[in-house]
Amino acid sequence: MRLKSLLKSRCPHCLEGEIFLSFMTMNETCPVCGIKFERENGYFMMAVFMGYVMGTAVALPLILILYLSGASLAGYLITLIPALIVLSPVIFHYARVVWLHIDEILDPRREQESSKSL
Ligand SMILES: [Zn+2]
Repeated sequence: MRLKSLLKSRCPHCLEGEIFLSFMTMNETCPVCGIKFERENGYFMMAVFMGYVMGTAVALPLILILYLSGASLAGYLITLIPALIVLSPVIFHYARVVWLHIDEILDPRREQESSKSL
């Protein structure tokens, strides 16, 4: 259930409300349960770390393929830089969603933190 809501970018608390208003714009609060997504200033700094991990997860298979095919340095640059630029909005989006869900698992929100009851 949580994996499905993570893939659909749903709230980590109620697993129903949409986290993002559009692909790159977040809701401040969950439209269903009312929790505030950004718990404190700097809350999404860990999402930056998640973005690094996800970017590495994208780059490593490409590097392996390029290495095995004997690509030149220019081949690495021509392949990796556009791939990471094209995928950066997806990585940004899912880095925040993954961080919200990991944080909810590690430190679940109490009912007082949500303004609406479930
Ligand atoms: Zn919610």
